[in-house]
Amino acid sequence: MTHRFLIMGPQGAGKGTQAALLAQRAEVPAISTGDIFRANIKGETELGKLAQSFTSRGELVPDSVTNDMVRDRLGQQDTAEGFILDGYPRNAAQVEALDGILADLGWSLDAVIVLTADRDELLGRLSRRAELEGREDDTAETIARRLDIYEQETAPLIDAYRARGLLVEVDGIGEIDAVAERIDVALAAR
Ligand code: AMP
Repeated sequence: MTHRFLIMGPQGAGKGTQAALLAQRAEVPAISTGDIFRANIKGETELGKLAQSFTSRGELVPDSVTNDMVRDRLGQQDTAEGFILDGYPRNAAQVEALDGILADLGWSLDAVIVLTADRDELLGRLSRRAELEGREDDTAETIARRLDIYEQETAPLIDAYRARGLLVEVDGIGEIDAVAERIDVALAAR
């Protein structure tokens, strides 16, 4: 059985944490576009320099850059049995690009996991994370911008994946282990 999953949800909903845990359980790589950008920014690569001008403002990195990066990453050896994509796609054009990438690889998605959480809970979690991790894009202004982009551009994708019968919605509020358990139960119930 393959495990080709997307994990979606607003920033602060625990996506990265749950993606990493699910990746361990499913024995497939967790691929976070945000992490790839951060690694490139840290390594001062060309991609990093380009990305930073967008990530530091809470804006999306241009689709052409992001789509090529995902195509490269999914084409690597370790994705044969599956992957968990975290933070991509984030808008309708990226959904279309991902459809093309998967079609070229002869693959299709198994499920789209959506972690739900309300905005007040998210704002609290994000400002706590800002203190703990010191991410430069976790200022009050960029947090609000990222949540706005999520609501305007990314949240509508949930309906598109629901229409494809792929959606698995999970309450993201609670202890890490409890949410992980909910994800397993919801995936098994598909
Ligand atoms: P994240 O860690 O997923 O919140 O991503 C951090 C930042 O990286 C975002 O605010 C964007 O600037 C950029 N980023 C991550 N994923 C994408 C994507 N799929 N498309 C465009 N930009 C992205």
